[in-house]
Amino acid sequence: MEIEQKLENRLIGKRQMQEAVVSALTFLPTDTADEVTKSVWFVSNFDDAWGFTLDSKDLGQRHLVFLSDELFFEPKQQVLYTILHEVGHVALGHRNAFFKPQTRQETEKQEYEADKFARKYLKN
Ligand SMILES: [Zn+2]
Repeated sequence: MEIEQKLENRLIGKRQMQEAVVSALTFLPTDTADEVTKSVWFVSNFDDAWGFTLDSKDLGQRHLVFLSDELFFEPKQQVLYTILHEVGHVALGHRNAFFKPQTRQETEKQEYEADKFARKYLKN
């Protein structure tokens, strides 16, 4: 099944953003992409941060990846990298909850791992 179909209605934003998410997910192995498409909602937002992933008990098994409209002014590689970085947080089981502050160490470790994830798959 095509990634776009798997995501059903969990891709909320402009056409450009939807296409970028689908194209980023094609870099992932099928099983990883399947996991991600089951539990993640991609949502456009207007914040300055290019990408942001939220995970909360209140969301159950769902994860929200917010992608800024600003991101899409960046070169294609940067766009794909940012999306894969955010997807990496989900795939690696990272926590980023509003109500459970993390130590700086935890945050840095997760950022490092998500970058590693993005680099690994973007190479292919
Ligand atoms: Zn991150």
